[in-house]
Amino acid sequence: MAKRKLAPRPGILDIEPYVPGKSKVDGGGPVTKLSSNENPFGASPKAVAAFKAAADQLSLYPEGSAAALRETIGAFYGLDPMQIVCGAGSDELLGLLAQAYLGPGDEAIYSRHGFLVYPIVIMASGATPVVAQETDLTADVDTILGCVTERTRVVFLANPNNPTGTYLPFEELKRLREGLPEDVVLVIDAAYAEYVLKDDYQPGIALVDATPNTVMTRTFSKIYGLASARVGWAYCRPRSPGC
Ligand SMILES: *Cc1c(COP(=O)(O)O)cnc(C)c1O
Repeated sequence: MAKRKLAPRPGILDIEPYVPGKSKVDGGGPVTKLSSNENPFGASPKAVAAFKAAADQLSLYPEGSAAALRETIGAFYGLDPMQIVCGAGSDELLGLLAQAYLGPGDEAIYSRHGFLVYPIVIMASGATPVVAQETDLTADVDTILGCVTERTRVVFLANPNNPTGTYLPFEELKRLREGLPEDVVLVIDAAYAEYVLKDDYQPGIALVDATPNTVMTRTFSKIYGLASARVGWAYCRPRSPGC
């Protein structure tokens, strides 16, 4: 038999490792990585107490479908728990979305200064990342739409974006969705939804409800100061009947 060289799928070795911000300073002391938007206030004392109480159960597998958490998130936001998926941080959910919708030959678009995890999950799925230039460090709907080809399957948009802190008003988000083909998934990464106080901003729940191809991701890492617990969730369309 001809000898084949062991190699991962194309694209894997092209991934540039994610480099987190520095977590040590000269002189020691606790460091809050603002480049990763760690919450300098820490977690709620109630969350800390719950975490300590869970220490007795470390040997048990968690309930895999995160039913209790999905019920609670659903009650808090008025959403159907069946349309919520929890993950080990929203990073895992971004990876799962890429795995589910992308493969070799496909393209996925993100904006020039978009969140660094997008190119990683796109390349890990074997697909090709396509970078849409920004205007004033802000995602540009027309430029993103101009990047769409027959191969486009996913658009990743952080709204608001990390690291630029800029955002698209809901009207622009709707215009983006309307301009995208139906077989393209729009992933609205609303990791910082809680931080926006502008009237023209919406995290994207209404767009998930109104369209068959939009997903919103959220995280407990930033606003709740729970980065170490790795808790993220996605709000998705219900499974269509007959599927
Ligand atoms: C921090 C961050 C995430 C991922 O957070 P998790 O800790 O994996 O939930 C996703 N998107 C953006 C834009 C972020 O800044």
